[in-house]
Amino acid sequence: SAVKLARSEREQAWREMAKQVAHEIKNPLTPLKLTVQSFERKFNPNDPDIQKKVNEFSKTLIQQIDTMSNIATAFSSFADMPAQQNETLNVVKVVKLALEIFNEDYIHFITDEEEIIAKLDRTQLIRVITNLVKNAIQAVPEVESPRILVTVATEGSQVKISVADNGVGISDENREKVFEPKFTTKSSGTGLGLGMVKNIVENYGGTINFTSKLGKGTVFTIRFPKE
Ligand code: ADP
Repeated sequence: SAVKLARSEREQAWREMAKQVAHEIKNPLTPLKLTVQSFERKFNPNDPDIQKKVNEFSKTLIQQIDTMSNIATAFSSFADMPAQQNETLNVVKVVKLALEIFNEDYIHFITDEEEIIAKLDRTQLIRVITNLVKNAIQAVPEVESPRILVTVATEGSQVKISVADNGVGISDENREKVFEPKFTTKSSGTGLGLGMVKNIVENYGGTINFTSKLGKGTVFTIRFPKE
């Protein structure tokens, strides 16, 4: 019956949401665990630098815990927000807001424009940006001076958003695979992020591309029609 169908659609939507939340929460757990494990291994109470090291470790732990807490906050506010398919929004403002969640000083936001209006669902745009930036952050932990640039611009009748990092890069072998569901090179990755990003972007008649150089970095670029 119609009622049954509506219920199963709702259940499906919740299942998707739960999967997404689990994906987002699991990511910061890996560095968190690694930090604790390495602390356990290296802890030496007789080390004259121990206070400094303890401070560094707790700073890292607190940052990662904050990240998780921010993700949880972001999701609970999504839950309050009814998803409007064809909402009109200011892309510049929403991208800027999405970046605030991360609170990292090596993430830079670049735009010449104050307002780019597009018909997009706000929750989905935030989800796209969050996933690309999270991947960029996960690509740079070994880099001495990590740098992530997020650019928003108008290009003809399209909006162009790019996320550039100076991280590990993507090998030629993996180029074709990164959008496949479940493809991951991370020990606790789910491989669901980029596939979801691609689905959302293509749903809005947009495209996603990337250029990458191993050991140098990666630039993901999405384009979709302006209003
Ligand atoms: P996950 O992050 O869970 O692995 P994704 O679908 O978001 O899932 O990404 C799939 C794979 O694509 C990652 O495991 C990684 O190998 C690669 N990848 C994505 N973004 C980047 C990036 N900015 N730099 C390097 N590799 C990336």
